[in-house]
Amino acid sequence: MLAVVPPPVTVRVPAKVNLHLAVGDVRPDGYHDLVTIFQALSLVDEVTVAVADEPGVECHGEGADQVPTGASNLAWRAVRLLAAHVGKDPDDPKVRVVIRKAIPVAGGMAGGSADAAATLVGLSSLWRLEISRDELAELAGKLGADVPFALYGATALGTGRGERIVPVLGRHQFHWVLAFDRRGLSTPDVFDELDRLRLEGDPPRVGAVEAVLEGLSSGDPRQLALLLGNDLQAAAVSLRPNLRRTLRAGVDAGALAGIVSGSGPTTAFLCEDGDTAVRVAAELAGAGVCRTVRVAHGPVPGARVITTEEPK
Ligand code: ATP
Repeated sequence: MLAVVPPPVTVRVPAKVNLHLAVGDVRPDGYHDLVTIFQALSLVDEVTVAVADEPGVECHGEGADQVPTGASNLAWRAVRLLAAHVGKDPDDPKVRVVIRKAIPVAGGMAGGSADAAATLVGLSSLWRLEISRDELAELAGKLGADVPFALYGATALGTGRGERIVPVLGRHQFHWVLAFDRRGLSTPDVFDELDRLRLEGDPPRVGAVEAVLEGLSSGDPRQLALLLGNDLQAAAVSLRPNLRRTLRAGVDAGALAGIVSGSGPTTAFLCEDGDTAVRVAAELAGAGVCRTVRVAHGPVPGARVITTEEPK
């Protein structure tokens, strides 16, 4: 009897920006407790999973040359974890993963985590698993603190290391301009820098998360702009002083507010509406303060299947 090979599955998965990121003091185990509000943006990676005799990961697009394609690739770690979870051989999962990146690598937008989440969703479909989003989220949390959010998308409150997710309801769309820096920043380096700055002095801390939740539910970008905050911003700017100029240039170009996204170095600018975002992006691109500029909106859904190709 001829075995039917299931068609490849392609999943689209969003980048995130943190509208609010409160970082607790370093714990004895080296981690920090976080209170954060994530928003998923229309800047997406696409991940295709397919049954293959030659297993492995391929990566194309934005920053692909900086992405490891071996065992340390987060998407590959997702393959192994899900294979083991459903009783397949993690050392020979017979799967090929092709990643097309648009999310900047090491940019503070959780691109690697997004690819891992997309892989979990893609394989669930490819392997026809009866597995709920919540069960996938359990596995996702083992891969990294930002992976569960990429499964759910939209806007959410994250606690713990960011992996405990509660959805934030809201019907409003917000418009963003994203400025990519010339090189990435390592997330652990940024947390270390924050610990150092806190030993030396008292870098600014964000206010209460409740105010940001209210700003979000108002749907008024002007109100939300006043409330954006990121405890990691001082550390990212300390490591990359040029970000100060980028942040200023975005506001000078007409954005309501600018913020470092997560651990940076990507900066995110909240704009009044979509037309303003396009104008701000054009001016920022001409200002020579960053490598690339993108326009995005949010919230958008989390990782979801966009195509299942029919077998040839
Ligand atoms: P976060 O905001 O979650 O801290 P980030 O957006 O700053 O993450 P990523 O793009 O997720 O950073 O990449 C962090 C590092 O992870 C990269 O330097 C890269 O070496 C490694 N990595 C592993 N797998 C991937 C992947 N699929 N895509 C991008 N980077 C990956």
